[in-house]
Order: sequence, then C-alpha cells, then structure tokens
Amino acid sequence: MSEMACRTCKRVFRVPRRGSDVCPVCKTRTLTDNWNGLVVIFNPESSILAEKIGAKEPGRYAINVGR
Ligand SMILES: [Zn+2]
Repeated sequence: MSEMACRTCKRVFRVPRRGSDVCPVCKTRTLTDNWNGLVVIFNPESSILAEKIGAKEPGRYAINVGR
C-alpha cells in the first residue's frame, strides 16, 4: 500500500498500485509520493489550517507536496 498526494488539490489517497496516478477528486494526473505532513480536515470553514492549505472540503490533505 502506498499513499499518494495530489499536487493540485493536496488530497492524500491510498492507491492500490503505482501507475494509477489520476486524482479521484480533481482528475488531474499530478499524484506524487513525495509529500509529508498528513492533516485531516473536518471543518474547512472554521479551520485556519484548511485555509492555509486551500482545503475547501473535509478530507485528508498533505501539508507539503514536493515537485
Ligand atoms: Zn487532486
């Protein structure tokens, strides 16, 4: 099992295998395993952290996503 983060929306996903690199949320092919700082957002409206990373919906996000 590997977890990948999307460089576009910063969501973190479990992907079954390498190669399936399409983000289920924004549909871009920008997933990377070069990320760190997992954060779970429950209430984006009232979270400073969510605002900082640009999270608009509840979910799991990466704080730092590499290029
Ligand atoms: Zn995405």
